[in-house]
Amino acid sequence: MRQGENRASRDYIRQLEDRLRQKEAELALLREITEIVASEDGLDAAFDTIARRVRELLKADTVTVPLLSRDQSHYTYRAAAGLHAEELLGEELPISVGLCGWVLRHRKPWWRGAVDKLEPHERNEWERRAGKIILVPLAGKRRFLGGIAAIDKSDGSDFDEHDLELLSLFSRQVGFAVENAIYLEELQAATERTEAYRRQLELSNQRLQRTNEELEHLALHDPLTGLPNRSLVIDRLQQAILAARREQEPMALLMIDLDHFKEVNDTLGHLVGDQLLIRVGERFQGVLREPDTLGRLGGDEFAVVLPHASREDALTVAEKLQSSLRQPVTVDQNSFSVAASIGISFYPAHGPDPSSLLRGADIAMYVAKRAHDDYAVYEPELDHYKPDHLALLRDLREAIQRNEISAAFQPKLDLFSGLIVGVEALARWRHPQKGDIPPYEFIPILEQTGLIKPFTLQIVEKAIAYCARCHREGMALSIAVNLSMHNLRDDKLPEQIGEIIARHDFDPRLLVLEITESAIMHDPEHSLEILNRLARMKVQLSVDDFGTGYSSLSYLKRLPVTQLKIDRSFVHDMVRDEDDDMIVRSTIDLAHNLGLTTVAEGVEDRHTLGRLNELNCDMVQGYLISRPLSGDDFLQFIRNSPWNARRTQARSVTG
Ligand code: C2E
Ligand code: CA
Ligand code: CA
Repeated sequence: MRQGENRASRDYIRQLEDRLRQKEAELALLREITEIVASEDGLDAAFDTIARRVRELLKADTVTVPLLSRDQSHYTYRAAAGLHAEELLGEELPISVGLCGWVLRHRKPWWRGAVDKLEPHERNEWERRAGKIILVPLAGKRRFLGGIAAIDKSDGSDFDEHDLELLSLFSRQVGFAVENAIYLEELQAATERTEAYRRQLELSNQRLQRTNEELEHLALHDPLTGLPNRSLVIDRLQQAILAARREQEPMALLMIDLDHFKEVNDTLGHLVGDQLLIRVGERFQGVLREPDTLGRLGGDEFAVVLPHASREDALTVAEKLQSSLRQPVTVDQNSFSVAASIGISFYPAHGPDPSSLLRGADIAMYVAKRAHDDYAVYEPELDHYKPDHLALLRDLREAIQRNEISAAFQPKLDLFSGLIVGVEALARWRHPQKGDIPPYEFIPILEQTGLIKPFTLQIVEKAIAYCARCHREGMALSIAVNLSMHNLRDDKLPEQIGEIIARHDFDPRLLVLEITESAIMHDPEHSLEILNRLARMKVQLSVDDFGTGYSSLSYLKRLPVTQLKIDRSFVHDMVRDEDDDMIVRSTIDLAHNLGLTTVAEGVEDRHTLGRLNELNCDMVQGYLISRPLSGDDFLQFIRNSPWNARRTQARSVTG
């Protein structure tokens, strides 16, 4: 009995020891799995270990780890060990198929005894194959993951309750670790996705920023020259003003307008014009320094913002800009002499904000252009030169379109005969709101745009028509029309005037074109060519405002002119000012030596008239004889005036 007891307790101890060893093995396995799962090697390594260890534990031929897809519609053999492991690994099946599907659907273990629990429709198919398979679900705390299956014991026996218990326990233990690992893996994937997304976002942001910068550049730069446009120039101007205010230093704005650019555009096309603008921009940029901003305001207008610039600095820059144009600019093998007019204004002297500085520089530029100076500095006195330039330009354009600019006529009195022998046509514009606008205000605007050409032709047309009318009234008068400098650069002009003359069947010798000395001298060679063409048409040419320019005697001799008009600034004071008297006298002598007739302008009193008579001046013009009058008024005037007009039967036609 005692011996039996002893054996029983020995057996019992051995059993306990077995179970202990088993537990230790299980624990070791669990520890191993947990470690692997948590390690860098990742889930695949963990599943692989699970499969291999379960196979050892259960002494099975094959062990697989089927895992459910996230949507639980499929399962995949994520790991396999033993026989056919390679075939099984990675196999993906719908959950409706196979033993795994059953286990995963029912969430309970499959082992041999389970066949009894099969539903009738599930039975036959599985009974066949179910014999040596044991399959338990693999579940975590939060989620059902899949299962662990063992197929066929190596010794040919069946899986038993112990195997089921062992596998279930193992699966429970491992489930949590695997679940965490799966989460980790998913988290990692999500992080990677987030990271990729973030990178993508960053790239998109960079692209967006680049596009924005490009857009901004486009919005703030002139597409042709790449220079800052008007908005950016104004912005820089604002900044420079603020800095100047802070530092109590002056700053300057220069505005540059190219002379006769429009003609280049008109004659050679805008492609050449564009290239010219680009070149000129480069020239300007070449003489500027880092803090200066060169911009293009539009058309042929540029601007330079000079932060911290004294008057001296600004003038130096203006000179540098001008000298940058000394060398002709080449475009497509054509070389152009480009001239520019520069207007300068200063902060704080000429205003507190960009608009007043722009306005000041604009007016100064305009004055420089008129005076043919390289540059001019703004002064408030210059304001009247440019009232509302733009609005005026718009209205002017309309007036010309509607042919609304009229001509007034001022007589020329021949001192030798005492007869009125000609009239000068002077442009008159009555603005619908502003009333009469004097020619010195609107003619320069016409000159700056191309409008001077149609305008001149309109005046020539009116003058010739009027002169013809006078002739019908029995008055043998000549008609004088003023040409501007720009007309002298217009190669079409002679032909167009010839066309008007022909249309009116007019005697060209009765038409006198008055051209100022400075207009001729601005481009002497070209002027000479046009004047010669006009002279060949028998049109008479007269040098207007003589004495104010700088024409040389020798040059004057080459001109096909027949008349000199002595500028009224000399005539006005000649009876009181000896110098003026001397100038008038020598001009008359000079003209006569050259075979030219003389007209004294601005004769306002009898003293002056008498003196001019003494000096053998040929003709006089001025308020003393008559102010400029409308066509009708002039005819009225001539009927009642002490001066008679030369009658049509008279032989001479010179006026
Ligand atoms: P201008 O060719 O020297 O014309 C003579 C100017 O002197 C006219 O001024 C006339 O009204 C003014 N005047 C005439 N007699 C006297 C006088 O006794 N005393 C004074 N103080 N002034 C006198 P207006 O009509 O204002 O024209 C000014 C300038 O505008 C003209 O000077 C001419 O350069 C230009 N202009 C006028 N009409 C035309 C035109 O049709 N085409 C062009 N291109 N220029 C024109
Ligand atoms: Ca004139
Ligand atoms: Ca004149």
